[in-house]
Amino acid sequence: MTVTVVEGCAIATVDDAATEIADGHLVIDGDRLVAVGPGPAPADERERATRRIDATGKLATPGLINCHHHLYQWATRGYAQEATLFEWLVALYPVWQHIDGAVVAAAARAGLASLARSGCTTTTDHHYIFPRQAGDLLAVEIDAARAIGLRFHPCRGAMDLGVSAGGLPPDDVVEDRDAILTACAEAIDRHHDPKPGARVRIALAPTSPFSVTEELMRETAELARARRVRLHTHLAETDDEERFCLERFGVRPLQYLDNLGWLGDDVWLAHCVHLNDDETARMGATGTGVAHCPTSNGRLGAGIAPVPGLLAAGVPVGLGVDGAASNECGELVDELRAAMVLARAKAGPTALTARQALTMATRHGACCLGREDELGHLSVGALADVALWDLDEVGFAGIDDPVAALVFGPTRPVDTLLVGGEVVVQDGELRTADPLTLAADLRRESARLRAVAPR
Ligand code: ZN
Repeated sequence: MTVTVVEGCAIATVDDAATEIADGHLVIDGDRLVAVGPGPAPADERERATRRIDATGKLATPGLINCHHHLYQWATRGYAQEATLFEWLVALYPVWQHIDGAVVAAAARAGLASLARSGCTTTTDHHYIFPRQAGDLLAVEIDAARAIGLRFHPCRGAMDLGVSAGGLPPDDVVEDRDAILTACAEAIDRHHDPKPGARVRIALAPTSPFSVTEELMRETAELARARRVRLHTHLAETDDEERFCLERFGVRPLQYLDNLGWLGDDVWLAHCVHLNDDETARMGATGTGVAHCPTSNGRLGAGIAPVPGLLAAGVPVGLGVDGAASNECGELVDELRAAMVLARAKAGPTALTARQALTMATRHGACCLGREDELGHLSVGALADVALWDLDEVGFAGIDDPVAALVFGPTRPVDTLLVGGEVVVQDGELRTADPLTLAADLRRESARLRAVAPR
């Protein structure tokens, strides 16, 4: 068993007491943290170490947790650049309709590599395009996550409300409801690992109010609860969605979900930009989580989510990059600054602190995914998912507060990333794949897709 000793770094543990250590150590035995504290590691731990990391000048944080993504969208970046969400979707559905295993493999590997280099150790993915004949695209993504080395919570997405039935997506990209439910059950059977330390867990995720029938929403919730997996969907992202819900269901988006029995502490929702105060309180009362995606919301002009109010209501608010077609950067550490800046642009300089942004990206993210017992904090017994950030260079020099340096300072690749104690990034370089090969594969598959469905 590998025993890793990390010494000489500042540590933001994000533990129950929000402990911060100016100069401390971490000891990792196998995939768990066995010691966290100030100064050098105890002599007996140093003696049994099989790997030593001198982390002088670095900040250790829990690995960041990405709560919302669509990895396949890495193959369709740069489309519909001035579009609203609905315009953007209508432009992209006909392109996405042609994805296959090769596109998804290249896109997922590229997206996961970018997440890893931006400090992310656990990511979810919401995959909801399943062209007939394309094979098991969820399995393709899971293989990609194993290859890059990230912990993975793929969500089996679904759409069954095509344009002819009053939905937004073309009929060609929606699936039959029974086929969806069968595929969801199979995904759980094949891939879901409920055990502590799991590398792969499945969630069920019908896509949005404007692409899914009420029947599928209800039946998916029943299936998820019978199988003890989590539920995820998009909600309250735009004014257009709100109008759609008022016209079709006679209620606002959150009330629609509430009526379907969808709110609860086993659910997290992407966006929640357009919630009023009563709805924010209802989120808190039900323990429903949020995946806040500030860059995507900005890119699509969707608005600014009421994050300070959600946090005050006790809502777990994790961060998400969202799909790379609405956040071409796709790097998670950027979302800490984006969350802070957007909240402050809306509500003043005390709206969100650097430490709150870090807590959202770690503990709150773990809570959204039901992993708060073992992820999102550097505590003895937690999984050894650790990011080391190099703050000893000109971009950060002179910022005395390491957490402020990380959140306010320039974006840099993470220096070292450990997932379950295993090295994924070292010296700022991805160690599990060749970035030049990933880029070549992504260029080829993006071009192939563009040729099939021209802009
Ligand atoms: Zn999304």
